[in-house]
Amino acid sequence: MSSGARSGKSGGKRCLVTGGAGFIGSHLVDHLLDRGDEVVVVDNFSTGKRSNLRGHENDTRLRVIESDASDAVQGFGSHERFDQVYHLAAAVGVKRIIEQPIESIETNIRETSAVLHYAASCAARRETPPAVLIASSSEVYGKGSKSPFSEEDDCVYGPTTALRWSYACTKAIDEYLALAHHARSGLPVVVARFFNTVGPRQVGEYGMVLPNFIDAVLAGRSPEVYGDGTQTRCFCDVRDIAPVLPRMIESSACHGRVFNLGSDSSISIADLARLVARTLGSDIQPVLIPYDRAYAPGFEDLRQRRPDLRRIRGAVGFEPTIDLARTIRDVARTRGWSASDQ
Ligand code: UDP
Repeated sequence: MSSGARSGKSGGKRCLVTGGAGFIGSHLVDHLLDRGDEVVVVDNFSTGKRSNLRGHENDTRLRVIESDASDAVQGFGSHERFDQVYHLAAAVGVKRIIEQPIESIETNIRETSAVLHYAASCAARRETPPAVLIASSSEVYGKGSKSPFSEEDDCVYGPTTALRWSYACTKAIDEYLALAHHARSGLPVVVARFFNTVGPRQVGEYGMVLPNFIDAVLAGRSPEVYGDGTQTRCFCDVRDIAPVLPRMIESSACHGRVFNLGSDSSISIADLARLVARTLGSDIQPVLIPYDRAYAPGFEDLRQRRPDLRRIRGAVGFEPTIDLARTIRDVARTRGWSASDQ
């Protein structure tokens, strides 16, 4: 792929996807290539996987750079131009944040800062800057008890001795940086606050609940429900999420704004465990595990987390379409399950 020209031969866009080999990033890459864009993926493969980009090996419109985003954008200089930058590279998963707090905090702030400075430097050179999407998280709301969470709501965090909130703080700093670049130089930036996103390629090793429950049921083990299982979440399939990201970045009405992104249909975690078992034809029952054993003493979980979707619906007409049972079946199929196993 040529490195200098903007807009590919196909007439599509030239896109940079940091974290493009990760769970959400790789689905976005699929979508961008499908619609005819050229894509540069930057991923340090700390959690991303080359296998997530399987099927595109011979596609000359895809280039994969193994690097931290900050190093990669420094190397781009003025010769590499993009229409769109999707910054999805981050340390993810509450479990990982608790296990590796320093690396996670520093990564999340440093990488976002570098990507935004890179985009802003294009404007400083009087080039048209790329539009930038910054991936944030519903964690930013912290432990507010309001439901649903709306973008202008207060963010409520626990004490700094409770490590869990460090992730929320890093994502909040990323949002401040993005909005400040927009305010200072008019950089076209949009912030997406992802709520619980699920689907094929998500792995359970960083603590995410759905792949853990599916892996447990497929192995004939009881899904481990933390706490009493009455806490609720809203799960949205990544294949609903990925196509909306280009629509957000391409809508000037979205620039300089923050958007919730996910499903607003709630389920308790105990019901989720039962749904996984039922969908995969198992009668295995969940087991309850106290939070201090699951995470660490003093761990504070969120009782509920549900997005107000009015803003994203109004801006780009977003509506999730894939139901949770289908997501469960599709994820299980990627782990060798078939409906005839029931
Ligand atoms: N959870 C669980 N069992 C697991 C992993 C997570 O019961 O194996 C719970 C977790 O405590 C939380 C919910 O499921 O209440 C969602 O956890 P996840 O880490 O997926 O997302 P988040 O807490 O960020 O919403």
